Amino acid sequence: MVSQIPALYGSGKLESRYMFKAHSIEKLLMFNGNGEWDGSFRVRELSKNEKLRKLLSSILPPDQYSFSDEDRISYSFGKSSIEILAARLGKTTEPVEAVVSPDYGTIEKLIKELDPKKYQLIPVGGASNVTGDLSYSKGKVKIALSTKNFKRVDFRENYVILGSGHTGLEAENILHEYGFTIGNFPESFEYSTIGGWVATKAIGQESNQYGGMENIIIGVKMIGSEGFFREEYVPRNSEGMDLKALALGGEGKTGLITDVALKLHKTPTRRFFNSYFFRNYEEGIKQISKMKFYPSVLRLSDEIETSISLDAEFNTPLKKLYEGYLKITGARNGSMLIMINNNLPPPEIPRKVINAGKYPAKQWIEGRYSRPALGNILWKKGMIPDTLETSTTWSNLYNVHRAVRQRFTDQIEEEQAKGIIMSHISHIYSSGACIYFTFVIWREEEQMKLLESVRDAIMREFIENGCAVSHHHGPGRYLERYLDEKITPIRKRIYDPLFSED
Ligand SMILES: Cc1cc2nc3c(=O)[nH]c(=O)nc-3n(C[C@H](O)[C@H](O)[C@H](O)COP(=O)(O)OP(=O)(O)OC[C@H]3O[C@@H](n4cnc5c(N)ncnc54)[C@H](O)[C@@H]3O)c2cc1C
Repeated sequence: MVSQIPALYGSGKLESRYMFKAHSIEKLLMFNGNGEWDGSFRVRELSKNEKLRKLLSSILPPDQYSFSDEDRISYSFGKSSIEILAARLGKTTEPVEAVVSPDYGTIEKLIKELDPKKYQLIPVGGASNVTGDLSYSKGKVKIALSTKNFKRVDFRENYVILGSGHTGLEAENILHEYGFTIGNFPESFEYSTIGGWVATKAIGQESNQYGGMENIIIGVKMIGSEGFFREEYVPRNSEGMDLKALALGGEGKTGLITDVALKLHKTPTRRFFNSYFFRNYEEGIKQISKMKFYPSVLRLSDEIETSISLDAEFNTPLKKLYEGYLKITGARNGSMLIMINNNLPPPEIPRKVINAGKYPAKQWIEGRYSRPALGNILWKKGMIPDTLETSTTWSNLYNVHRAVRQRFTDQIEEEQAKGIIMSHISHIYSSGACIYFTFVIWREEEQMKLLESVRDAIMREFIENGCAVSHHHGPGRYLERYLDEKITPIRKRIYDPLFSED
């Protein structure tokens, strides 16, 4: 039997919303992607581990474990470009041997019965990570632990305890009924889970107001090979390296997060939207660095990202009129700023801007979770889209933008490939911001080598410029080697034996 497994983000259903925009993107990139890929890959029947089947059937009810090829493969990769390209090339890594989905009643028994010397449990939430963390190398017998049965909603005073398996969308839908939000809206919000957010130290698009997961959580409930840790939901503690520290950024290696206590905020009722243009990106960064108050969302695109989003997103009858206005004001080749604030009156407006009205900001929020579908379309056309992100101080931001662009161009030339790179800044702090690079590359031959060499060139530029290895995606398997080499052995010492490779 052969299984057909979807490899792209959102399993293809997002693209229909963007199909009509694909043409303008292709035109802009000026590539000739050869052939169409349907976005899935085929796998031959996998061998079954009968010993493991016997063991799991003695611990869990039949609906809490699976040996199906589809489940084993779907739980064995995330959404990184390396994994998607491997799928397109038909070269995916080894899948897990089984998928378990215990609940609050069965998790303790499961953990007690598995020998950490033989087995590794790998927690999986929405499988939306882009760090290769679910793409395994050989070693112990690997079992994916789906968190889909950890669902619970328990309101307390000004906070809520949620099961780690709720997706962001599910959680916010429930809280919305009561007039609350937790305020974490990553672009993967519809798929990623509360547990995954904590384990990757994720951050959402409204972080200027609500912060990242480190600011949003109050505490966690967690289980490791020795059993459950003591629960403690207190406003603050001074307990040295505590359970929260073990959970935040643990990337599934420090144990399973079953519940998360999160701060609650009132759902905003009035929103301020507006868009502006700066003469260029450098000027925009300079002016934003001088602001004292940031709106909930502030997003400044470089000139290329601005131009591409105007072409791709404003494919409406209004486009011509709007473009005319931008030309007259001298903003068409500028750098676009989107500001959204969860309240009125508007926050501080930066200096030296040209007002571009509400339209781009409203368009942006409308497509805030579906925009990755544009990447799906490029994948299908044979191209390789990818992103890398970092953070740095205000005085370094524009230098990093320039240095990365130059390094990218040099690398593409050396590899005799084609490519385009763009960036935006978002997630604003008084000391600096996150800078997020999106690039699309293409070459007929040796595509994996090309992708790895371009990623490595950009990562080296980050490190040489004193930037973070990652601002929010996390290091995972792919970026761990760029961390300070003295950190990795220290991290490994706190990994749980049942949840780690060694
Ligand atoms: C299109 C797209 C947009 C994205 N946008 C953002 C963004 O705006 N901001 C952002 O921060 N990230 C973003 N990401 C990255 C990704 O969505 C986040 O890292 C997210 O937090 C992963 O959550 P998940 O539930 O999908 O976790 P998974 O991918 O399933 O797992 C990620 C890691 O966490 C571990 N893990 C998962 N659940 C648990 C648990 N309950 N206990 C212990 N460990 C666990 C896993 O073992 C793995 O190491 C994006 C990804 C994509 C594909």
